[in-house]
Amino acid sequence: MSTFNDLGLNEDLLAAINDLGFEKPSEVQQQAIPILLNEESDLVALAQTGTGKTAAFGFPMLQKIDIDSRTTQGLILSPTRELCLQITNELKLYGKHCNGLNVVAIYGGASISEQANQVKRGAQIIVATPGRMKDMINRKMVDISKIEYAVLDEADEMLNMGFYEDITSILSHTPQDKSTWLFSATMPKEVATIAKDFMYDPTEITVGNRNESTAQVSHEYYLVNARDRYLALKRLADANPDIFSVIFCRTKRDTQKVAENLIEDGYSAGALHGDLSQNQRDLVMKAFRNKQIQMLVATDVAARGIDVDDITHVINYQLPDEIETYTHRSGRTGRAGKTGVSMVIVSKSEVRKIKSIERIIKKQFEKKDIPSGIEICEVQLMSLAKKVHNTEINHEIDLFLASINELFKDTDKDELIKKFFSVEFSRFYNYYDKAKDLTVNESYRGDDDSRPGGNGNETRYFINVGRKDGYDWMSLKDFLKAVLELGRDDVFKVDVKDSFSFFNTDKSIEDKVLAFFTDFKHNGRFVNVEVSEDKGRRGKRSGGRRRRDGKPRSERRSDGRRSEKRSENSKTSRKERRRSEGKTKSSRRSGKSSVSDRPRRSRRK
Ligand code: ADP
Ligand code: MG
Repeated sequence: MSTFNDLGLNEDLLAAINDLGFEKPSEVQQQAIPILLNEESDLVALAQTGTGKTAAFGFPMLQKIDIDSRTTQGLILSPTRELCLQITNELKLYGKHCNGLNVVAIYGGASISEQANQVKRGAQIIVATPGRMKDMINRKMVDISKIEYAVLDEADEMLNMGFYEDITSILSHTPQDKSTWLFSATMPKEVATIAKDFMYDPTEITVGNRNESTAQVSHEYYLVNARDRYLALKRLADANPDIFSVIFCRTKRDTQKVAENLIEDGYSAGALHGDLSQNQRDLVMKAFRNKQIQMLVATDVAARGIDVDDITHVINYQLPDEIETYTHRSGRTGRAGKTGVSMVIVSKSEVRKIKSIERIIKKQFEKKDIPSGIEICEVQLMSLAKKVHNTEINHEIDLFLASINELFKDTDKDELIKKFFSVEFSRFYNYYDKAKDLTVNESYRGDDDSRPGGNGNETRYFINVGRKDGYDWMSLKDFLKAVLELGRDDVFKVDVKDSFSFFNTDKSIEDKVLAFFTDFKHNGRFVNVEVSEDKGRRGKRSGGRRRRDGKPRSERRSDGRRSEKRSENSKTSRKERRRSEGKTKSSRRSGKSSVSDRPRRSRRK
């Protein structure tokens, strides 16, 4: 079967499909729709994100429910508010010729009574997040005792997010003899358990390999020194002038920080994480969808709702804690038949994780070098040349042509071209001239491993609080574990002195520890953590501490923040930068590209 007509869908739905411009059913649709239309069985369907799962359950549900009845017959549970709204919108589009159809979205962060009113008006289908749904059931605002179809969409994500109990509780309010359809990108144990506990002899369909990432995505990794992570990120962005990407960080804090740094450095970036208000998140997502934001920096949880089809790159600024999460990250690109690249920036201590990920996604990574300064200059220059070549002429300029010609009357074409491009290119060239090579060889034992204090797999840190601040080794350990969200044994060899202390962690979390304390304030003062040369012996502190990059402490900014993110471009003064930052802000608003002291890309159109 290869057309929608062959699948057995009714006229109203076929008309909508025609309006939507869907030419042929995707694989999961081809497999699922006939089963769901013709059988009353339960279904487990595994397919990657972006394969059209919403329509795979949406069309059959729309066809099978009784639109003349006002009873709620279909319930779709989905992990996030974003997805919930997306599914609702898609269903409304699919059912636009089904007169009398009422699909209602139920999710947290919006008025519960308004949602209850919408349900009361008669919703044949409810699309809900588990938390809010449970709440409304408890308050008797919805009645799902007569539903015939329950869909668990993105089941793996819902379970990841800890919704098992909520789902169980919600399903206990539904009739035994309903059909349950479970859709998921991956099949971890938890999903198998749900299928076993809540479904009766389900038919299983799998599109592609289980847990496999889509064929449309290629995977690359870049090995760098941990402290060069941010510079590496900027280079990757600069080497891809038309990048439209999601950048994943591990914590909300890193997410916010990386986004702020990118914005400060002139990129069109935004942050998406759980500490933002719903309104802030909506604004960021809107700007991203409109491509006003080229680089969206996000946590895994916040990115779950992102369903934007033409993301060119996913960048793993840090690898996720659970390597399975990598599949979800890379699945944000390569959607709807397009190709995409998933890039990972790794430090030496994490490089072994690449092998584990390869086993999960059943694909090989390509090890690539961070582009050199000169390569980036070339890419940027050619990108600019193409842009100029494709620019439509603004004939308002005709008026001034005579004067401009007069000015350039002694300049030949080659010289003119060189001058013209130098306006932009010199900026890039000056920035990247003499920029260091960021690539690290896998066999290279750089300062990542030879750094004093980091003997073997441990890192020893200095921290500027001690007994005077009321800490003993136990309370300091508890404090560190709490703020860093670490496990029981993750902080060790805690040695508390009068006004300072030492502690160790596993080397693999050194980045996280240092990043966390870059400008951390506690009880009104900056808590400062640095890698120490004290190896856990009774510490001689003098001369022992040094910055991670070996630079003198005087380079630290007075506000306690590290200045290293600016260090790649040390040629321009802070004053110049500030001036140009002001300029970028206003030019960003007006949508024009900006000229500044450091390479900035003009916005995508
Ligand atoms: P999934 O739930 O598997 O991640 P979605 O259902 O969100 O995927 O679909 C991804 C995108 O593909 C949506 O924009 C949807 O409108 C579109 N789409 C779905 N089915 C088809 C089809 N048969 N042909 C073209 N586009 C489709
Ligand atoms: Mg989906």
